[in-house]
Amino acid sequence: MQLELASEIDFDGWRQQARWLAARSIPAHDVHWRINGAASLLDEVPTVAIEKSSSSETRVPRAFVELARTVVLHRSADRFAALYRVLLRLRNEPRLLELDVDPDVMRLRIFERQVKHDEHRMHAYVRFRKVDGERGAHFVAWYAPEHHIVEATAGFFVRRFAGQRWAILTPERSVVWDGNGVTFGDGVPRAAAPTDDVLEDLWRTYYASIFNPARVNVRVTQGHMPKKFWSQLPEAQLIEPLAAAANTRAGQMVAAEAAAPRRSHAPRPSAPIAVPTADSGAGNEQRDLLNHCRNCPLWEHATQAVPGEGPLAARLMLVGEQPGDQEDIAGRPFVGPAGQLLDRALKEAGIDRSEVYVTNAVKHFKYELRGKRRLHKKPAELEIAACHAWYESEVDAVRPDLIVALGATAVRAVLGRALPILANRGTVIEPTTESGVKGRVLVTVHPSYLLRVLPETRDAEYAKFVDDLKIATRYIRDRTAP
Ligand code: SF4
Repeated sequence: MQLELASEIDFDGWRQQARWLAARSIPAHDVHWRINGAASLLDEVPTVAIEKSSSSETRVPRAFVELARTVVLHRSADRFAALYRVLLRLRNEPRLLELDVDPDVMRLRIFERQVKHDEHRMHAYVRFRKVDGERGAHFVAWYAPEHHIVEATAGFFVRRFAGQRWAILTPERSVVWDGNGVTFGDGVPRAAAPTDDVLEDLWRTYYASIFNPARVNVRVTQGHMPKKFWSQLPEAQLIEPLAAAANTRAGQMVAAEAAAPRRSHAPRPSAPIAVPTADSGAGNEQRDLLNHCRNCPLWEHATQAVPGEGPLAARLMLVGEQPGDQEDIAGRPFVGPAGQLLDRALKEAGIDRSEVYVTNAVKHFKYELRGKRRLHKKPAELEIAACHAWYESEVDAVRPDLIVALGATAVRAVLGRALPILANRGTVIEPTTESGVKGRVLVTVHPSYLLRVLPETRDAEYAKFVDDLKIATRYIRDRTAP
């Protein structure tokens, strides 16, 4: 018996047909599925059309439906039959899915893992190239996934790059986001995709600057980034030459470390990148680069990276911890409740926020899910260190007279070590040459701390915070005074 599905990922069609077959107890080995329009070994055999209204008694656990939705995306021609086999057995073995050693279940689990792995890789390895068109710039990526995952991954890219127009082309399918809606189309050969742009050059420069030769392990690198995907990644061209030079560079790092005092994390070379500013219009470029960053796992669950903002000529730079829930959605730093409190305090301290450069030590939102709520989670030291090059590139571009580190994470990122805040607040710290710290630093609490303190102490704590900001104002004013 041959049945036809509308497309490679026609889950609903398969479900309806499988129910119909199961209701008639048709054995799995008597059924063959073909995809609409695709060649089949059974071309001579007519396809069976089931009635759309056919009802069925077949009931399966919800977990099987979820498993089947994923397995359908696998490239194996056998996936529909494998699913149907398990569906038939579930009628008499309702706990079958719990038997991970059962060959039929094991096969579906392998398919499921491979599809999820492929989705994960697509999230990580799609690299957009900027294309200037009549309607302005848009972004195009070419990518070859292993399984039929274009539709399944589209939502991820829409959430992440909602503010830009983009297209992802693959050999089988294409997906286009025009800022309002998604359209899926046929596949496109690689030759149809643009090949290089300025963004990639910048990204390669950044990748080279953060490449740590002391930690290079080509086998591990290949494990995370299999070689077959290298042709699709701009930075992959650098892996082999950088790995070849790793021994020499690692030796230089060891020698340099012996001469320099130890810090909790070594400063990384800064990347020569543009920093966003209201008047330069470079913000989108910085955002795109940050959105390509895979230097730590935080990019994966965040909506987007949140770059710093403010004028390049700012004399005061404020550094917070990381974007919060609202910043993650808006793509701008300090726009949530803590940001509103900061705005109020800046105003009371006589500081105009539009003249200040505001950023975070970590550029992607780290959180844990509690039901539907995304609760802030403190970034780990490794994540702060991974993001350090971005922070340093901002300091290099802005060269502020004073950096105000807001809270413990910012202090660690800015000073490269922990420092008790309450004991050191309000004092300008002059960096020594050996410390590697860029610029003078004033430490104070993070405005979110003021939202968490007991209500009876809130006013007093807020006043101390405003006082710290006033010290920053005076410091800058004194440095300008004739
Ligand atoms: S948090 Fe920083 S280092 Fe980690 S992925 Fe985002 S930009 Fe890269």
